Amino acid sequence: MPLMRQSRQKAAPPPTPKQCYFCVLGAKTIDYKDTRSYQKFVSSYSKILPRRRTGLCMRHQRMTAEAIKRARFMALVPYTPR
Ligand SMILES: [Zn+2]
Repeated sequence: MPLMRQSRQKAAPPPTPKQCYFCVLGAKTIDYKDTRSYQKFVSSYSKILPRRRTGLCMRHQRMTAEAIKRARFMALVPYTPR
């Protein structure tokens, strides 16, 4: 009897906006001191979310990641959750 392959459906990814959040705002820079501006691009485990989750453009994804890393170093946001 052949092994029955079960059809496993992949979990639907969370809905992401088609347009980059910062491009819509017209942001030229992302200030690391403004922690609230990039809070939603950090996971519950305090990790920087990948681009497929954030929906940001390459430019703003890099700027966001850099801002989060700077803020971590300056102890404005935590490296890990409590
Ligand atoms: Zn952008």
